[in-house]
Amino acid sequence: MNRMTDRSRRLLGRITALALFLGVGAASAAPAYQMPFPCGQVWRLATWQGHNPDRAVDMNRDNDFGDAVVASAGGTVTTARDLGDTSYGRYVVIDHGNGHSTLYAHLSGYRVIVGESVSKGQRIGSVGSRGTASAHLHYEQRVSGRAVSARFNGVAMPYYAVVFWTSHNSCN
Ligand SMILES: [Zn+2]
Repeated sequence: MNRMTDRSRRLLGRITALALFLGVGAASAAPAYQMPFPCGQVWRLATWQGHNPDRAVDMNRDNDFGDAVVASAGGTVTTARDLGDTSYGRYVVIDHGNGHSTLYAHLSGYRVIVGESVSKGQRIGSVGSRGTASAHLHYEQRVSGRAVSARFNGVAMPYYAVVFWTSHNSCN
């Protein structure tokens, strides 16, 4: 073992420690999520006791079957799956890095595949009623696979309440 190798190993160790430190630091910050609909659209967002999971948000507007569902933030598709008329039905999960992900369920269809990179505001599917009684988007923001309180455009969703909010997704 010569001196150069030892020095290189020490340097590599320091770089690895720094990368781990930066990685842990970044995990606390969620992506700047936007509503999963095109810019300017107004949707009814409902949170309610007994919802499974509790922090999920159900989203509607009039005649919404087939309406575009877009990515809340850029990321990589980790799930694009059809459970039939049970549970989430047709649903998509996007991984945004550092343990953060979003889930879009009951879709009438999706247009992404696992492993695909998507950008914020990109259409990933359509509102539907797969796995549920009436058309709506069931939506979750997750940390390490668990739904957490949702935020859009920097504003926290109220629990438990119904609000009518305008999408600011990719407005410019
Ligand atoms: Zn739901």
